[in-house]
Parts: sequence; C-alpha cells; structure tokens
Amino acid sequence: MLVLVINSGSSSLKYQVRDVDAGSVLAEGLVEEIGMGNGGGGDGRIVGPRDHAEALERVDAKIHAALGGRALDAVGHRVVHGGERFAEPVLVTNEIIRAIERLNPLAPLHNPANVLGIRAIAKKWPDIPQVAMFDTAFHRTLPEYAWRYAVPDELYSNHGIRRYGFHGTSHEYVAHRAAALLDIPSEEFDAVIAHLGNGASVAAIRGGQSIDTSMGFTPLEGLVMGTRSGDLDPSILVFLGRAGWSPEDLDAMLNRQSGLKGLAGNNDMRSVVEAAGAGDAKAAMALAVASYRLAKYIGGYHVAVGGAKALVFTAGIGENSHQFRALVAERLGALGVQLDAGLNGERSREPRVISSTSSAIPVLVVPTDEERAIAEATAAVVSSSSPAR
Ligand code: AMP
Repeated sequence: MLVLVINSGSSSLKYQVRDVDAGSVLAEGLVEEIGMGNGGGGDGRIVGPRDHAEALERVDAKIHAALGGRALDAVGHRVVHGGERFAEPVLVTNEIIRAIERLNPLAPLHNPANVLGIRAIAKKWPDIPQVAMFDTAFHRTLPEYAWRYAVPDELYSNHGIRRYGFHGTSHEYVAHRAAALLDIPSEEFDAVIAHLGNGASVAAIRGGQSIDTSMGFTPLEGLVMGTRSGDLDPSILVFLGRAGWSPEDLDAMLNRQSGLKGLAGNNDMRSVVEAAGAGDAKAAMALAVASYRLAKYIGGYHVAVGGAKALVFTAGIGENSHQFRALVAERLGALGVQLDAGLNGERSREPRVISSTSSAIPVLVVPTDEERAIAEATAAVVSSSSPAR
C-alpha cells in the first residue's frame, strides 16, 4: 500500500511517500514559509506558496515521480490534539474534521494547521481515503489520578483543563520496537520511554499502555526542553503577570526563550555539550538541570509502572547524544542502571541495548519513526474500513 504521510503546520508542510508493505520511503520533503507572501525558492528548496493547496501543487510532481505510475492508496495525517475523543487513528470524514476543529481551543496553533492539510488533500484528491493519527491518542489510557490537576473541578468540566500528553505516536512505536527487541510481548511490557528531541517527554508504559507522561495540558509541562521550561511553580506566572507581563510575553518566555536556550543561550544539544566540554559553566549547568530533572521523572515512573523492565531513549538527543545519556544514567545508580561506555558511544541507526550486563534493567536506544507509524496505522485503518480494497 502506498501512503502519503503529511505533517501540516501553520506555515509548513512536511511530506513522506511510503510503500508500507516494502517498508521503504519513496520520497520526502518539506515546504516552508507557506502564506508568507515571498514566493521564493530558487535554491531547490520549496518556499513561499500562497496556501496549503498551492504547497501541495508544488510537491505534486515529486510525489508522482516517486510513485512511478502507481496510484496513492491513502493519506495519513499527524494531528496534534485528539482531546478526549480520539484514542485511535480514524478515517477522516466531514464529521471528523469538525471534531478536530472543535479541539482548536486546546491546540490553537496546531489543529487548525492540521485541518488545512486535510482540506487541501480532500480538494486535490477527493477520492483518496485520509486517516488522522493523534499525538495525544496513546495517552488516552492514563488513569484519572494521573491526568487530573488538583484544581477546581469546573476547570476540567467547563474548559477541558486536564493532562493530555503528546508524542504519543512516537512513544507507542518505540515501546513496540523495544519490547520486540527484548523479546517481551508488548502487552507485558513495563518500561520508561524518554523521547528527547527539541520537544521532550517521558512516558510510563505498563502492559504496553501509557499510564503517565510528562507533558500535560500542553507540551510545555515536564522536562527541560530545547526552548521550553518544563515544570515550574505556576505562581511565577502570577508574579510576572502582576509585574505587567502579558499572556503573549509569558507564552514566548516559557515556550521559546526557556529550556536549554534560557539556561545556556543555545537550544541545540550538540552546541550545549560542546560548550560544556570547553568549560562554559552555564552550558554545564544546563546539562545538569536537564539530566537531573529527567532522572527524577525516570525514578518516579519506574515506581509508577511497578518496576520498569527497560529504559528506552529516542528522538534527536536520545538517539544521538551519548554524552547526555551518560549524564542521565549516572544519576540512576539507585535503580542499578549501568551503561556500557563502548555500546553507549557507538553510532548506529539500529535499535540496540547500551547497558552493561550488570545493569539491573536494560537501557536501549530505539530510533523513533513517526512517519512509519502513521503510514502503517493509515494502511491498517483503510484496509479495515474498506474490505473491497
Ligand atoms: P528532534 O526534535 O527529535 O529532531 O531533536 C532535535 C535535538 O536533537 C536538538 O537538540 C539537537 O541538538 C539534537 N541532536 C541531533 N543530533 C545530535 C547529535 N549528534 N548529538 C547531540 N544532539 C543531537
């Protein structure tokens, strides 16, 4: 089955064409600066189409060249917020589009952009089935005591203020791959997964299901990230509000100027590690804060899952930064976690164990692949909803 995977942002459209049965990527690319009115692009990059429909026109030829005369079977979309409704990927209908739009207040930057992508495809290829896969869906299994904030109930019942969690597609995919690597049936897999990219979250997996995760109402909660603060005392916002900061100022500070960038002046883990190695005290402290906070979550989730059978690192930093993994592992001595320095230092794109044989639980690196997960889910939904195909 040939599936086009779309990750549609407000000003960007990322695409990948996959042959699901062969497990191969036939084409991929990114269109940027959509709707910014600059119409540029000369250097081979695709930038500046008027809207998402025009963006699709610009990549149409590339997609069809990749298909080599074969027809696309389905399109799968990454949709950020599925609220309380969506626990599974679904076939897109007009009713589903309206349901995604009703969740706009919970993800005002992302869900409208995801719908733009869905509508652009529906207009261009009205007969191709589309599937929406939600970043929140895997965390629909969180028990209520894990998703509740201890605030007046009406904030939940009237405004939907609760913990939702994100990165679900990645956590689910990585949990499955890790369980397979360890030869443990997915439904018996208890683990802690650390998805450490520019955005970062940890998930507590029990019996293959998510029972807790560090992101909450929005992707701001939890770990120290590239430019996001993660957890802090909410009174800081009240304090700053009284000092005249606007909601927009607070939003920018928490989401774009904090995290590694706020502490070390740089949101790229490679640069922070390098600077710390060269004696930059702020960079060293940023690594200490980030690794300490992650280690506390791992310890907490180890308890939450009743004793993890594995600790798994994934995403940009989790897959590539042996230095950061080592810093985190050093803080996990109480769990008996021990890395093998040689295995940890190896460069590989394959899922692998990086702990020593004396480690109390295996530590793994499992590269995430959200596009693959979306393509496979899309193929499964489309096959099951149209038996004639
Ligand atoms: P992602 O959001 O998953 O693409 O991850 C982005 C993050 O991964 C950035 O902070 C990068 O600095 C980090 N990253 C990517 N490659 C490396 C590397 N080789 N070493 C350390 N960090 C890396």
